[in-house]
Amino acid sequence: MPFTRRAFFRKGALSALGTTGAATLAAGQPGDAAEDGNWTFNDVDASLAAEIQQQLPDRLFDIHAHLYRNSDLGLPCPELPGAGPDRTDVDAWRLHLGKVAGAQRLAGGLFFPYPVKNGDVDAGNDFLLEQVGRTEMARGLIVVTPDMDRAKAESYFQNPRIIGFKPYHIYAPREQTFDAALEEYIPEWAWEMAHAREGIIVLHLVRQAALSDPENQRSIRNLCTKYPKANLVLAHAGRGFHAPNTIRALPALKDLANVYFDTSAVCEPDALMAIVKIFGPQRLLWGSDFPVSQQRGKCVTVGDAFSWICPRRIDVYPDAPVCNPTLVGLESLRAAVLMASLLDLSKQDREDLFYNNALRLLRMQDA
Ligand SMILES: [Zn+2]
Repeated sequence: MPFTRRAFFRKGALSALGTTGAATLAAGQPGDAAEDGNWTFNDVDASLAAEIQQQLPDRLFDIHAHLYRNSDLGLPCPELPGAGPDRTDVDAWRLHLGKVAGAQRLAGGLFFPYPVKNGDVDAGNDFLLEQVGRTEMARGLIVVTPDMDRAKAESYFQNPRIIGFKPYHIYAPREQTFDAALEEYIPEWAWEMAHAREGIIVLHLVRQAALSDPENQRSIRNLCTKYPKANLVLAHAGRGFHAPNTIRALPALKDLANVYFDTSAVCEPDALMAIVKIFGPQRLLWGSDFPVSQQRGKCVTVGDAFSWICPRRIDVYPDAPVCNPTLVGLESLRAAVLMASLLDLSKQDREDLFYNNALRLLRMQDA
């Protein structure tokens, strides 16, 4: 029962992670997500979670989580959100991610909408605003598009809990947005505003080589130097799903004081280790990428790229070893604690990675 590349690419979460081609393929067949056990939490997950949570600090701040209503995501609804709650709010984050990380540990988060090409950007931003407005330890980023009205963006910043921008390549005005340069999907005024407010931009890099792409590197260097008070968080360890892309690029960027990385959806420790070695433990922040954290599978470096291993991609031959895939959120937490262990990080460093770095970066209390 071989699984074709095409069938796998039907999975909606891949478009959220910027995988090339995902957006152009048909939506999944009914039942695919249920088959994969996304949004579920089974005995294997519980057992792994108990083991991993023993190694976590008491408080966690999630630097990368999406909140949204499915009705704002356009039609057809992307498959991963479609298999979850209709309304994925702070309570849903706490309920589902709480099983992964321990609900009592989840102290707060930096939240943003779920960017989709055909969705309602304004409605998504308004919902985000409402959610962070009612949650003490929450901050928010608004989705910014190249054609967004600057005055409209300014109006969101009247709420002090809105502290920056979530750009996304799918809004670049070109056919193959996976090849877009930063300048094609982040308006320069967003950098100006982030600089003026010491705000945050959480960036999911695209292009095949991600952080090793020369044009990406040039753009990051130019913009972070021109706007030194804008803080750039490179999501997914600089989209280091193919770890060598991040590892080889880090030395060229290490002098930039306003560059940070999040751990979200990174399921192997090597790129995280390289970031801590080169940038230090204060520049890496734990993030869940909720709801991707509730997807069952794991992202691994394979050959010259990376691959998402979902349940239907696990070896199905009769003599293969028994293997029960778990949630991306657990795989990613395991990679982060493994990195901390392999590098002998101190208790303080671990607390920084999972909590204090975020509070310092977001200029929140008791940091
Ligand atoms: Zn994300």
